[in-house]
Amino acid sequence: CGIVGYIGKGNAKEVLLDGLSKLEYRGYDSAGISVLDGKITTVKAKGQLKNLAEKCRGVKLDGSVGIGHTRWATHGAPSDINSHPHLSYDGKISIVHNGIIENYAPLKAELIKEGVEFVSETDTEVLAQLIRKNYHGNLLDAVIETVKIVEGSYGLGVICEDEPDKIVAVRKDSPLIVGLGEGENFIASDIPAVLKHTRKFYLLNDNEFVVLKKDSVKIYDFDKKEIKHGVYTVTFDE
Ligand code: GLU
Repeated sequence: CGIVGYIGKGNAKEVLLDGLSKLEYRGYDSAGISVLDGKITTVKAKGQLKNLAEKCRGVKLDGSVGIGHTRWATHGAPSDINSHPHLSYDGKISIVHNGIIENYAPLKAELIKEGVEFVSETDTEVLAQLIRKNYHGNLLDAVIETVKIVEGSYGLGVICEDEPDKIVAVRKDSPLIVGLGEGENFIASDIPAVLKHTRKFYLLNDNEFVVLKKDSVKIYDFDKKEIKHGVYTVTFDE
């Protein structure tokens, strides 16, 4: 339901928890964050954001790269396990997803046949496992290859332990925006999530892939041709 992503020099956990709180109005049944600091550490909790914040207190989360999510369950009951972010089987890749993967059942059956073990009941976990399967050293390529075979709607934020300097994102029929900062950048499903950090945005269109680094934002189409985007500046108040 709600997505926030951060890459920069600040404390990712703080930015993510604050950003998610600004998206509470959308409604949600659970929430979670992944922070990348050498390794990916993930904390998720059913229920209100304060449950997540409480759970985070006992965990070392010091990185400056991360993704967060508030979930409105469509596939799989609200639970800690079904909350996002979802990890690939080896924990190398973590994703947050808004929307619905319509053809998740056949894709999941195929992955299970290949030996992939699933831990949740969500449609989203199929994306995490597929991105891992398609990962051969380039996260953007893995995300492009994955969404080619996926039907449905998605706002997607992805991080990978082997490429700690970036977040890869894409959207189709689900809102996603990029917040442009100085030495830090953001993704979010809606502007209020990061309006306290920036007033400059890229409002993404369907099928635009983003490679978000702390000092640069690049947007690509399916053929990895770069797309130049106009900047949208917010003039209203928070
Ligand atoms: N379909 C996904 C799930 O049920 C994402 C739901 C959402 O957009 O929050 O986990």
